[in-house]
Amino acid sequence: MTAQRHPDLRVIDCDLVVIGGGGAGLRAALAATVADPSLDIVLVSKVVPMRSHTVAAEGGAAAVLREDDSFEQHFEDTVSGGEWLCDQAAVEAFVAACPRELAQLERWGCPWSRRDDGRVQTRFFGGMRVQRTWFAADRTGFHMLHTLFQTSLRYPAIRRHDEFFCTNLLVDEHGLAGVLGIDIATGHPVLYRARAAVLATGGAGRVYAHNTNAGIVTGEGMALAARHGVALRDMEFVQWHPTALPGSGILITEGCRGEGGVLLNAEGRRYLEDYGLGPLEPWPRPRAMELGPRDRLSQAFWHEDRAGRTITTAQGNAVLLDLRHLGPRRLAERLPMISEVARRFLGIDPVTAPIPVRPAVHYTMGGVATDLDGSTTLPGLYAAGECASAGIHGANRLGSNSLAELLVFGRAAGEAAAVRARSAPRPGEALAAEARACMAPWYAMLEAAPAAERPRVATLRNAMHAAMEDGVGIYRDAEGMARACEALAGLRAAYRDGVALDDRSLAFNTEWLSAIELGHSLQLAEVMAHAALARRESRGAHQRLDAWRARDDAGFLVHSLAWCAADGPPRIEHAPVKLTRSVPRERVYGGAGERVALD
Ligand SMILES: Cc1cc2nc3c(=O)[nH]c(=O)nc-3n(C[C@H](O)[C@H](O)[C@H](O)COP(=O)(O)OP(=O)(O)OC[C@H]3O[C@@H](n4cnc5c(N)ncnc54)[C@H](O)[C@@H]3O)c2cc1C
Repeated sequence: MTAQRHPDLRVIDCDLVVIGGGGAGLRAALAATVADPSLDIVLVSKVVPMRSHTVAAEGGAAAVLREDDSFEQHFEDTVSGGEWLCDQAAVEAFVAACPRELAQLERWGCPWSRRDDGRVQTRFFGGMRVQRTWFAADRTGFHMLHTLFQTSLRYPAIRRHDEFFCTNLLVDEHGLAGVLGIDIATGHPVLYRARAAVLATGGAGRVYAHNTNAGIVTGEGMALAARHGVALRDMEFVQWHPTALPGSGILITEGCRGEGGVLLNAEGRRYLEDYGLGPLEPWPRPRAMELGPRDRLSQAFWHEDRAGRTITTAQGNAVLLDLRHLGPRRLAERLPMISEVARRFLGIDPVTAPIPVRPAVHYTMGGVATDLDGSTTLPGLYAAGECASAGIHGANRLGSNSLAELLVFGRAAGEAAAVRARSAPRPGEALAAEARACMAPWYAMLEAAPAAERPRVATLRNAMHAAMEDGVGIYRDAEGMARACEALAGLRAAYRDGVALDDRSLAFNTEWLSAIELGHSLQLAEVMAHAALARRESRGAHQRLDAWRARDDAGFLVHSLAWCAADGPPRIEHAPVKLTRSVPRERVYGGAGERVALD
């Protein structure tokens, strides 16, 4: 072990660490500093904040605005969209807070698209019965993140440490005591000693091969919390977005359908009417069809594909998203980025030709179990955004609820963490020794001799992708899920035995960092597969092809909770869902068409 391999630990004291510079992290940091300007806040992120996945969000953010809408309707759409697996008190608090948060962004400078009379414009989104989605053309995430980022620059108490890769959380007898990781530029270890941390590390879509997520969306935050005994909730619920480009997985926003785009199969038919999805009412009040919820639309694609009614492209089978009838002016005004993506990546002009699309993994409905203020069972640890499960998405998230969620629960977590950071005792000196011990395995990875028999990161990652696509897909059965569990256990064991790294340097060693990411992703993939196997019913995004094809409210109107072990499979338990006023009933989106029989 050379001195270069074991650079000394840098210890930095602060009051609060926010891990993640996406929408949730920036909102949390802002809330904390506004609540208590005396706090010393460090915001760490493995990429510069503007490269967080929030920047890629396209379609919009939900909040009641129009006269024909109400909190009651937003609540009902969300709870039925989540097939009654939502915690209803959380949804009530959420829908009531959304308008305030989106208006706050407006005050900070977010350029929401406007109606002719100057009021904020809204569009339809899937599973929402009225126009509720605020947007900034089809670059909503970019504008929201920019607004939050530029606002954060006005608060010097928020110290940024960009390109810091968090590897461990440290805990003492009082709870969270520190955040440990690697300064990516130098490869040196850094410990932030603090009494409170907000995890805002985003989702885990990259555990699948075909996804819409940025390469950094590998789910570390969830795994870091799980390693300290915090439960991961509802991880079996993975959202496939019905319209991504085949091959690349680039998202084609639901906003396209919100603007009136239609989906056609290989026969040129709007096939969704065969799947109990309408049409209920004529445009401009389309309750379903293309504006049905994402789980149902992705499942419909699966059936069409199996029936041979998809078109073949070089990157796999697809259906067609037709936007031609919207006309060049509306496309340029409302969907400029989508038009550019279609032209650049497919050579297709949506003004004159439909866009081939297919489902891709998009969103992690589950996450670190939190209360409404973002608190977890580990004192001092808070979580918000896609890495968290505040309980609002249930078995299927409605599009545009997530961007609003980042703001509502990011703020709540920031405010609660500020109180804790002010009141809890400072971590002791002994923490640095523990941090050095925690870093040792990461540096050992760099030093391990290249062994021919050690697998490469990409080999294990590809095998993880294959196991998830094969066994934990849009439709699942016991055999496939068990196969995935077994494959993932083998991959975790292989990972523990060591991976082969070519790059031994410290500075900007992305191979090393992706090896660390992979360990976390493998753990989450295993949780998803086990939680799925344990849910013996079909609900929302979890659909089974075996004996458990029906929803079972008597047995499974419950959250899954997963506790992870350092080695060995996770322990899965179930806990009641908190209902307030919406009684579970059949989830109907209208239309006479029956869903195609499964066999
Ligand atoms: C293409 C696309 C389009 C979308 N469009 C919409 C939409 O229109 N409406 C909607 O409601 N939702 C949309 N979503 C979902 C929504 O954008 C995301 O759920 C949300 O932006 C996640 O925000 P976040 O702050 O939780 O995480 P992210 O924005 O993913 O940020 C995570 C942060 O954590 C940091 N981080 C992660 N791990 C570490 C680590 N180990 N160490 C240090 N830092 C770390 C990252 O650097 C990053 O800063 C879309 C998602 C995608 C992929």
